Amino acid sequence: MVNELLAAAAIGTAGAFGAYWYLKFRCVLPMESALRASRKAFLDFTAFTKETLERAYAPEQQEHYGDLTNYYLIKLHKSFPDTCTLLFEKGQGQWRLINYLKNFKVEPKLLTSYRWSAFDRSSSDGELLRFDDVNTGDYQNVAELFSVFGVRSALMCPFTPAGGAPERLIVFGAGGPELFGAAQPYLRFVASQLNSISKVSDQVLVLKKETENLKNEVSAVVKELDVAGSRLIQRARERKALYEVVTSVTAPGGDSQYGCAAILNIVAKIVEADIVASLLFDESKGELVVSPGAYGITDSERMCYSIPVNNQASSSVRTFLTRKPFISADAQNDPDVLARYAKLWEIHSLMIVPICLRNRIIGVMRVGSRKKDFFTPDQLEFLTIIADELAIIIEMVTLYENLSKTAQELAQLNRLKDEFLSTVSHELKTPLTTIKGFVSVILSGEVGPLNEQQLNFLSVVDQSVNRLTHLISNLLDLSRLNGKVEMEFQKADLAELVRGSVSNVSLKAREKKVSLTNALEKKLPAVQADTRWIGQVIDNLLINAIKYAGPGAKISVSGTDKGEAVVICVEDNGPGIPLEEQKMVFEKFYRGKASANQVPGTGLGLAISRSVVEKHGGKIWVESKPGKGARFCFALPVAKK
Ligand code: ADP
Repeated sequence: MVNELLAAAAIGTAGAFGAYWYLKFRCVLPMESALRASRKAFLDFTAFTKETLERAYAPEQQEHYGDLTNYYLIKLHKSFPDTCTLLFEKGQGQWRLINYLKNFKVEPKLLTSYRWSAFDRSSSDGELLRFDDVNTGDYQNVAELFSVFGVRSALMCPFTPAGGAPERLIVFGAGGPELFGAAQPYLRFVASQLNSISKVSDQVLVLKKETENLKNEVSAVVKELDVAGSRLIQRARERKALYEVVTSVTAPGGDSQYGCAAILNIVAKIVEADIVASLLFDESKGELVVSPGAYGITDSERMCYSIPVNNQASSSVRTFLTRKPFISADAQNDPDVLARYAKLWEIHSLMIVPICLRNRIIGVMRVGSRKKDFFTPDQLEFLTIIADELAIIIEMVTLYENLSKTAQELAQLNRLKDEFLSTVSHELKTPLTTIKGFVSVILSGEVGPLNEQQLNFLSVVDQSVNRLTHLISNLLDLSRLNGKVEMEFQKADLAELVRGSVSNVSLKAREKKVSLTNALEKKLPAVQADTRWIGQVIDNLLINAIKYAGPGAKISVSGTDKGEAVVICVEDNGPGIPLEEQKMVFEKFYRGKASANQVPGTGLGLAISRSVVEKHGGKIWVESKPGKGARFCFALPVAKK
């Protein structure tokens, strides 16, 4: 019984053992290896997707999309090295092989076009298409290709490339369909990746294009702004130049002739003209004449151009008569323009505007360019504004010309007058000396007694002769000073000259009961002076003080050392000089209103004094408060040691 039990147990154990190993070998081990294989396949696929995803990006350029496709295909081929990967692109109903991956010893030259309905089907379905045996239907066309690559089974996977490129197809080929199960997810993954990247990439490309367009637009706008900006700066510069011309011309002493030429020059630059001229109406000839300063025209050409204002065929004349601006795109072929002149100056585009001065038309401005259809209405308007400025300058030129003509005539007259006075004075001096001599002899009674009436009459003659002699000697002095009188400069002591003059006039002072005080500083520095002329100046100031301050007046003469100069002043306590007359007393022939009829004089003494002092490099002036006397001073520079 025990044995039976033991035997049964042994049999049972052996059975169990057998069953275990049977199960182990037949079921568990294959399952384990299948599990390992599928785990490896899973890990490989995960690694593949992970790696490719890491490298995935949305390309900005189509070539980059091509690089990405190549990268996927290479990765795919690495995962299935015993297969081949062919890449086709659709074009004109055929499929061109554009890339392939397989290890060849010799590169096959098979990059050509193929036709196979299976390609089209896969492409139109957009789905994976599997052929376990490619040898079907119209396969002949690709038979040679497939045989070179050893393709008997094929998996087709279409995808749409980015940037609107033609459709593409990956053909995963092998000797048999064994690997297709494993390859399918790879192909699906690659196709879906390429499709979705293509969509994103398409948008990126669109965005990029838009950005580029915008960039181009922005840079075009910036360029335009730049051009407009520099044009504005240029215009501002030109306007500034124009303004400067106008102000320089309108300022006192401005050069109007230059201003006219400058303004025409500026106009030429602003409107980029080849010729700018002002045609002014010459009333005496009844013609429009080109005035000087024209731009782009020589003087001899200028002389040839004048046009009668009755010639209505001329556009310049019409603008002159109607005051309407005129513009022509091609003056040489325009019936409204005299082609002769346009040809003479070789111009095509032409603008003409009226030049009006205070509502009076004085001429026209003609602006021409050698280019056709060159000027714009804006420029025509600009010209009409400039023409107003030009009118002012033209008026100034005319005024200036008239003025300088008058000034020249006046200078000529003045010269003649000086010459006349000088000759007459010389001629008068000799007979006057004779008259004076004989009158003195008669008055002295040397040639017989005189009755009272004769004595009176002759005294009047004597005084008149004295006045006339004084006037003539003043006139002669003045004409000498106006001419080229040479001063005889020498070191002079002004105090001594003052003392001499005081003694000269002391008799006259006594007659008028005028007191004369000398208030000279003890030691005055020497000055360079012509003693005869400076002595005459001091005499003059003293005689004036005695004459105008009146009887009983007090006069003082002072001399002060001012360092660089010595100042001599003659001061009186007479009626003084009204403020408005103070500036005029040094003018030739000016006599004060109050003194003109009461005090004898020529109005030349102070004019001579000023001329003499200025010839010494000094100054003369008057200070006076009316009613409180006058103080005449002059300053002479101290002589250099
Ligand atoms: P004249 O004495 O011959 O008139 P001047 O040239 O010497 O000519 O003087 C010009 C004018 O200046 C005088 O007419 C007079 O009105 C004024 N004048 C000159 N000196 C004095 C003075 N000391 N006081 C007032 N007026 C004076």
